[in-house]
Amino acid sequence: MEMMRLVDCPECGLPATARSGGQLAGTYGPVEHVHLRCVVGHRFFGPGDILLHRHRGRRAG
Ligand SMILES: [Zn+2]
Repeated sequence: MEMMRLVDCPECGLPATARSGGQLAGTYGPVEHVHLRCVVGHRFFGPGDILLHRHRGRRAG
């Protein structure tokens, strides 16, 4: 069963859906990876810790 989450796109900040990509080996052991796809089509695949908890520290422009 897949869990979908709504997060901010790391690229543009618009809503993106996060889908579990399973567990992959990381530096400190298995980490959950996620697929991200935002409303304008940006796609990301990487550790959930990074993609889901990344905050925009500065405003573009
Ligand atoms: Zn985007």
